[in-house]
Amino acid sequence: EGLARFDNERMVDFTVAAERGAFPAAIARIRDSFGTTYPLYINGQDITTTDTMESYNPARTNEVLGHICQAGTEEIEQAIVAAKKALPAWRDTPPAERAEYMMKAAQYMRENIFDMSALQVLEVGKQWDQAYADLGEAIDFLEYYAREMIRLGKPRRMGHAPGEMSLYQYRPKGIAAVIAPWNFPLAISCGMTAGAIVTGNCVLFKPSGLSSIVGYGLVEAFKAVGLPDGVFNYTPGRSSIMGDYLVEHKDVNMIAFTGSMEVGLRIMHKAAVPAPGQIHCKKVIAEMGGKNALIVDDDAELDEAVSNTLYSAFGFQGQKCSACSRVIVLDAVYDKFVGRLVEAARSIKLGASENPANYMGPVVDRNAQKSIMEYVELARKEGNILLERMPEDVDLDKGCYVPLTIVDGITPEHRIAQEEVFGPLLAVMRAKDFDQALDYANSTKFALTGGLFSRSPKHLERARTEFHVGNLYLNRNNTGALVERHPFGGYNMSGIGSKAGGPDYLLQFMDPYTVCENT
Ligand code: GLU
Repeated sequence: EGLARFDNERMVDFTVAAERGAFPAAIARIRDSFGTTYPLYINGQDITTTDTMESYNPARTNEVLGHICQAGTEEIEQAIVAAKKALPAWRDTPPAERAEYMMKAAQYMRENIFDMSALQVLEVGKQWDQAYADLGEAIDFLEYYAREMIRLGKPRRMGHAPGEMSLYQYRPKGIAAVIAPWNFPLAISCGMTAGAIVTGNCVLFKPSGLSSIVGYGLVEAFKAVGLPDGVFNYTPGRSSIMGDYLVEHKDVNMIAFTGSMEVGLRIMHKAAVPAPGQIHCKKVIAEMGGKNALIVDDDAELDEAVSNTLYSAFGFQGQKCSACSRVIVLDAVYDKFVGRLVEAARSIKLGASENPANYMGPVVDRNAQKSIMEYVELARKEGNILLERMPEDVDLDKGCYVPLTIVDGITPEHRIAQEEVFGPLLAVMRAKDFDQALDYANSTKFALTGGLFSRSPKHLERARTEFHVGNLYLNRNNTGALVERHPFGGYNMSGIGSKAGGPDYLLQFMDPYTVCENT
């Protein structure tokens, strides 16, 4: 097709002065825009509502970034009407043309990458480099799914019977509700939305209430590239008011969700019940939680294991479904590894993410702070706290800070070994041998990511088959899956559906059909 081969966007390079300087400049520009009210976007129109919600900076909760209009059931209805109207023409738009819009949206994001990443620093407290990586991932999804659609868009001849032309092809499901999380606020929103749109569906996008301004970036990108009206609708709103309504709506064909296990299970349950007048079975794709383990073998390269465990557990404050929340250490290296890990965790800087020197910043909001603090108390009861560290140079009352916590003495029976905390709390587990380490690793209901540090070919080989997760990482960190290189997603209670950024992802947004003609 003359299309360049897919490659991941490069990471930010802070050794280049222009890139280093771009962040503070962008952060200042965003501060100037504080106070904006963000409308809904339905059928190509800005729609304002009387109900609005504030979005604040988790590092300084008195700093309000803006106000976001909130869709109620009436606005959802309006968006459904718009999506239905846009559907026939969009469905019939050739795949290559749909792909073209995605690649143009990627270009828009490249051109605005510093502003769009800096916004994440302020809205969710993401570190500079990780915010930039989130933009890179959003761009990757657009570019990769564009190419994937071109690949899947060609009808495939089946069989070879003379006198018969049998073609296998795909049509979009129809209307997709995209319900997105705040932790990868643009990337995951963009991935699910691009997956739905490039396959020919029309979308109602509900960003998380905690990152709706970042989510508004999709409106800007799709507006800029002239996506036809009604194909993409931005409908943030309060889950308690419009969440079930959206999921249960008879005209919604599928739901693409990323978030907690509780909400995911609720969506599956609601989506299973046909509404009056509904003529299809709803499809749900849900990427849910994790309780991910890294195993440190007795012959592991410990420096590597320490720095990668630190990043996997405390990068973005542990608020990744992929994060390492259990480190399982072989008895023979236990004291050495744990000692070094705690020392390393003691030496990193903590504080607002606006300062790139800080390794770990605030958690996303007051609710997250409260729930993580409850888990810290639970950890104190269930194990021995090895380290509990708050940032030193910040106004703790103003920011949503929680301590970096490492607890040991944890075994699979403990709640700390089973429940997803979604915060910077790492449980250390001692395993007497490699068999027990694998047993511990597999002892939760989740199966998302996992990893092993080892130099033993035999153990590395055993992990490939016996460590049950969707993304297994050997001798590296267990977060930061890259589009195409590391198709991402789990099973069991970590979710249903196939890998984001992988070759089967788009199939979930379409129905295959066969046309057979006697010739
Ligand atoms: N894809 C991300 C990673 O590999 C995690 C996504 C999530 O937390 O939802 O780190």
